[in-house]
Parts: sequence; structure tokens; C-alpha cells
Amino acid sequence: MSYVDEVLEELISKNPSEPEFHQAAKEVLESLRPVIQENEEVYRREALLERLVNPERQFKFRIPWVDDKGNIRVNTGYRVQFNGVIGPYKGGMRFHPSVNLGIIKFLGFEQIFKNSLTGLPIGGGKGGTDFDPKGKSDREVMAFCQSFMTELQKYIGPDTDVPAGDIGVGAREIGYMFGQYKRIRGAYEGVLTGKGLTYGGSLARKEATGYGLLYFTKEMLKNNGIDMKGKAIAVSGAGNVAIYAAQKAFEMGAKVITVSDSTGYIYDPDGIDIDLLREVKEIKRARLTEYKARRQNAVYTEGKGVWTVKCDIALPCATQNELLLDDAKALAANGCIAVAEGANMPSTSEAVEYLQKNHILFGPGKAANAGGVATSALEMTQNSERLSWTFEEVDTKLQQIMTTIFHSCDSAAKKYKMDKNYVAGANIAGFEKVVEAMLAQGAV
Ligand code: NDP
Repeated sequence: MSYVDEVLEELISKNPSEPEFHQAAKEVLESLRPVIQENEEVYRREALLERLVNPERQFKFRIPWVDDKGNIRVNTGYRVQFNGVIGPYKGGMRFHPSVNLGIIKFLGFEQIFKNSLTGLPIGGGKGGTDFDPKGKSDREVMAFCQSFMTELQKYIGPDTDVPAGDIGVGAREIGYMFGQYKRIRGAYEGVLTGKGLTYGGSLARKEATGYGLLYFTKEMLKNNGIDMKGKAIAVSGAGNVAIYAAQKAFEMGAKVITVSDSTGYIYDPDGIDIDLLREVKEIKRARLTEYKARRQNAVYTEGKGVWTVKCDIALPCATQNELLLDDAKALAANGCIAVAEGANMPSTSEAVEYLQKNHILFGPGKAANAGGVATSALEMTQNSERLSWTFEEVDTKLQQIMTTIFHSCDSAAKKYKMDKNYVAGANIAGFEKVVEAMLAQGAV
């Protein structure tokens, strides 16, 4: 049996109830086969893959908090410090009822390669909880965040592990958690990113993942002789990533015609109204039905189906496994030319395979959505310098980073004769740097 198959088999048998983690590890290791085969003897001796797929450490903890009726509620928190070989662990925290250890491990594993691709000194980590912020009062969210941080602060620090936001964690949650960290530790330090601008946050961090996705997509299209201008874009999600991806797409001359949330999707033939979308989702935290109510030509459809809308480019920006094989088939049948992932692993392996076989350009999340973590690393740099850069300075760096990421993926794919396979390219380029550092640092 090959080394890759051995490691995958052991991973599945030792972590049986973690399907998303299996999926992420399989996708990465499968595409690394040619690199691993070239170096199989050394990697086996060094147990390189076993070390890569096993987190350095993982924490699971109880989070008791008091709701508005005076009842004590209990949630479960996680932080997985996956691989710190190229820098302090870095990766967001997800607050969503679906969170479990397997989901946090899949996200933490992906984060290793994504962070490596940014070219910045950050290792891979991820965290979260099954707490659902939806329907909770601000006071309840604060009580929860304070209890969460009371435990989490034992494991994190500006030079060890620097969490950020993810699904369900925006400026409000980061603010409450930062306040509690500072209170307990008595230190004003850059332990979280995505902070508010008045207390150490970076300009352009809020926009970074969505903007970065468009910088990557534009570069991918350009390298394939395609112009972004005038293209119809289908976006899924209506959160942080989706909103700023849509905003930048309009700035680039494209037209975004859909957004979605966990209950349904909007098709707006006139183009999504970004100001209205921000008001409904960012400020009021309401449903997309409210967007529909204020937009005459928009159509709201309950449930899934966003990928049945005819588009040139699809940008999945909601959550994992939201673009299935049938969705890939619908996109191809409608003439879609490119898919780039704003979310983490939104496309299933079967969907990715189908898109690639049908010559639809495919930008994987770990490359295409790396702008968020890259800008978080820029926030860490500003915090260390005790300086704040302008929006333009951060945005210029973000554009350079995303362009470089695309070319790293492209070159790595070409090097192994897998031209235009940016999935393999991203995994190989991210892996090469991590492996070199792991071999240099010995058995740790
Ligand atoms: P938000 O919480 O801001 O938004 C998430 C959006 O996706 C919401 O519209 C939400 O709907 C929808 N959604 C969430 N879960 C589901 C589900 N199970 N089915 C359908 N829709 C769902 O999160 P972000 O925009 O920050 O994150 C989106 C994705 O991007 C995630 O995969 C995240 O890991 C990834 N990502 C985020 C980064 C960041 O900087 N924020 C960086 C890199 C990747 P509703 O409004 O109903 O809740």
C-alpha cells in the first residue's frame, strides 16, 4: 500500500466520526501524491504525513453562561492548534450549532496550507463552539463570549495562537472576547484579529476575504484570457465574505445577481443592491425575505437552488459542502466558466472533479479565500509595530498577496504537469513550504 493510502486509512480508523476532516485530508493528500512519491523514503522515515494529519494539540471545554431568563446554559468550545511550524497558530473561530471537533479539524487542517500560501509567518489553527448567536440578545452574546474567553485565554497569546472570526463571529463577538481577555490577562496585546478600528483593528480586514476572492478570481481569469467585465456572477451566502465579494465584483464591472442564506436565496436581475443587503444582514441581522420585500424585481426562493441560476461565474461564500455534484452539473449546463471558493470547502470532491473535467476554471478556497487570514496577519504586524496603516496600504498589500498566491498555485501545478489544476497547485505550493520547515525543525 502506498504511504498516502496507509496514512489515510489510519486517519479514518482513528477518527471515525469526522467525515469533513476525512474529506479535507483526502483531497489534500490525493493531490500531493506525485510530490510524496518523489520523496517517499524520506517522508516515511520522518513520519511526515502522520505528523501533518495529527494536530499538535486540541482543547475541548465546557462553556457555562446565563441567559436572559436567569437559566444557566452550557455549550462546548474547541481550539485545535494544528501546525505551528511556520508561525503562531492562526485561524478563525466559528459559532454555529453544527460545530463539532471534526469540523474544527477540517478547517484547521486546511488552514495550514492556506496560511503557508499567503507567504506570511502563520501556522494553522481553528476554533469554535456549537453556540448559536441567532436569536440571542446582545447581553446573552456578551455573557457567552466572556465565558468562552475565560477558558480560551489559557491557550492563546500574541506569539502563540491568534484567533479571528468565522461564521457567526464578527466585530461584536471579537469585541466582547477581546475585552474579557484583556481583563483576565491584564495585557493589551494583539491576541485576536478582526478587532474594531478604535482598539487595534486593521482597516480593510472586514472587506479582505471578499475582496481577496475577487483579486484572485480576476487574476485566474486574466491568465486564461478572460475579462471580468460584464460577467454575471452568482454568489451564495449573505455574510461577511459574500457581501464584500459582491461589492468588489461590481467595482470590477461584473454584475452579481444572487445571494443566499440558510433559509433561501435571492435572484435579483437588476443586480444585488449592496447597501440594502448590508442593512438587512449586517445591521438588522434579518432574513433575506426583508431584502425581497424592498426590491421590486427580486425573486426569493425558499431552500437551496442558488446554483440553478444561469451565471458566468459562481462564488460559493456560505459554508462547507453547499455545492454538490448536481449543482456542478447545473452550472456547467448553464455555461458557467469559472468557480472560485469564498467559503471553506463549499464544493464536494465530486463537484470539483466534475467542474475540472468540464474545463471550468476552479479556484479552491484555501487559495481564493486566503485574503482574510493574510490581512489578519497584517493586523498582527500593525499591532506589533503599534501603528495603523491606511486602507490603501492594506488593500495594496492584499492585492499583491492574492496575485502571488494565484501564481504560486499556477506554477506548482505546471511543475507537476497538472496545468490549470489550481487545487493541486494550491496544495503543493502550501505543502512544500511547510514540509521544508518541518524537516528543518526535526522530530517535534
Ligand atoms: P458569516 O456568518 O458572516 O456568513 C455566513 C453566511 O452563510 C450567512 O449568510 C449564513 O446564513 C450562510 N450559512 C451559514 N451556514 C449555512 C448553512 N449550513 N446553509 C446555508 N447557508 C449557510 O460567515 P463568513 O461570511 O465569515 O464565512 C463564510 C464562509 O467563508 C465560511 O465557510 C468561512 O469558514 C469562510 N471564510 C471566512 C473568512 C472570514 O474572514 N470571515 C475567511 C476565510 C474563509 P444566515 O445569514 O442565515 O446565517
